[in-house]
Amino acid sequence: MKIICEDQTVADIDIPNHLSHIGVMLSGGMDSSLMLFLILKEMLNLEKSIILTVFNVPKAHSKTQSRKIVNFLEKEFSISINLTYIGDITLPHNKIINVPVGYILDNKLVERVYSGINKNPPFEFPNVTAPKRRPSNSVIPDNLSFPFIRLYKTHILEIYKKFNILKLADLTHSCEMQVNNIRCNMCFHCYERAWAYKELNLIDNGE
Ligand SMILES: [Zn+2]
Repeated sequence: MKIICEDQTVADIDIPNHLSHIGVMLSGGMDSSLMLFLILKEMLNLEKSIILTVFNVPKAHSKTQSRKIVNFLEKEFSISINLTYIGDITLPHNKIINVPVGYILDNKLVERVYSGINKNPPFEFPNVTAPKRRPSNSVIPDNLSFPFIRLYKTHILEIYKKFNILKLADLTHSCEMQVNNIRCNMCFHCYERAWAYKELNLIDNGE
């Protein structure tokens, strides 16, 4: 499935025929939750049924958030989703995602892992450091897929709108520093999310 955004940026959700077991990394954030939604949609278009494992690194609120997202999508698609917790949550945040992906692939838990990783905004927010994300021109091995690698958060939100699933976006979290489900409104992820909603003239009803 190719999704073409208004500015012609393309997200290509491709599950090649030879695959029979795929994985999706789910943090419970906007990007990975959309990734899971689109993979489930694409699976409906396949000629054969394949196995899907959803992986979550159960760090802090990510565990409860991912459960919420999975519950929502199980209802939406009338299916049961295998949510598997993985990873050493004592590692620093920038390592924690890469290590489980490496572990999943090295141990062949699935044949290909899909990640919702996307692009930092085309400018910097004052007083916060943007996370290091994979460059959009990097070479990606066949057992990994980053369909959103050329997308900004604005594109991600545009796709939520396009598929009429803004209520799924409401369930996602972005803030890395939230306490008692209240976002800090001062971190890169809070700024990035607010930027996307403002650009699309939408109201963020999420936590
Ligand atoms: Zn925040």
